[in-house]
Amino acid sequence: MVALIISGVKTAKLKQTTTFAWQSLNQLLWPPVCINCGDSICETDKNLCQNCWSELLSCTGAEYCPRCGKDVSKYALLEGVCPDCQGKEVHFDQIARSGVYTQALRKMILNFKKGRTELDLTLAFLANSALQASTFYKDIEIFVPVPLHWSRRLARGYNQSLVLVKKLKHPTAKINTDLVRIRRTKFQPTMASSAARARNVAGAFAVRYRHRFTGKIICLVDDIKTTGATLNECAKTLKEAGAAKVFALVLAVAGQKIV
Ligand SMILES: [Zn+2]
Ligand SMILES: [Zn+2]
Repeated sequence: MVALIISGVKTAKLKQTTTFAWQSLNQLLWPPVCINCGDSICETDKNLCQNCWSELLSCTGAEYCPRCGKDVSKYALLEGVCPDCQGKEVHFDQIARSGVYTQALRKMILNFKKGRTELDLTLAFLANSALQASTFYKDIEIFVPVPLHWSRRLARGYNQSLVLVKKLKHPTAKINTDLVRIRRTKFQPTMASSAARARNVAGAFAVRYRHRFTGKIICLVDDIKTTGATLNECAKTLKEAGAAKVFALVLAVAGQKIV
């Protein structure tokens, strides 16, 4: 019996030593690099270098307007919205965002859209943190990814919003893809005006026959909000289909200047 235990301990130690040796060899042959910028990292950094982590923290920490997602102190809000949102007609009820579209977060989202889908875990961590901190988290019944036109999805191979939605954590909400993009919209540069963006997406979305949006509380999910024209048009389409409330979750909000 004692001999058996000793031999078990010896085998475990041998396994441990072998694993350690294998890990060291791996590290020597393929030293770990930051999945965002490619700089070398030590193992404890968990896929990102210190610089990317600190950039991510700096662009995800601030307070923001729950209507447009732009950085603003809660003391500057009037009736719950920033000065820029006063009197503006917006079809989605509130927004939650991970951060500002800059530095490491911008780079990470761009890489994710270019096919670096291994970034999904870090981005999902950021999205889940923003979602769980939102006031509407518990009310959500359905998650709806902002759809791509089929031709764009075919070219890219996946819809980045759907990839993200599948990684969201919620005790009850379901994913629904009955919101579709029926018209291919022109690519708009970041500097395009709100009016131009709104014209570009007008009538671009529809819901499938026998959808289940009537009376539901929905959370739209997208990677970036620029002027909000796309989210607004999606929310309008969902509300016309009978949705009770439409919230939005994005990884990043661009165009921080509040005018
Ligand atoms: Zn990095
Ligand atoms: Zn606002």
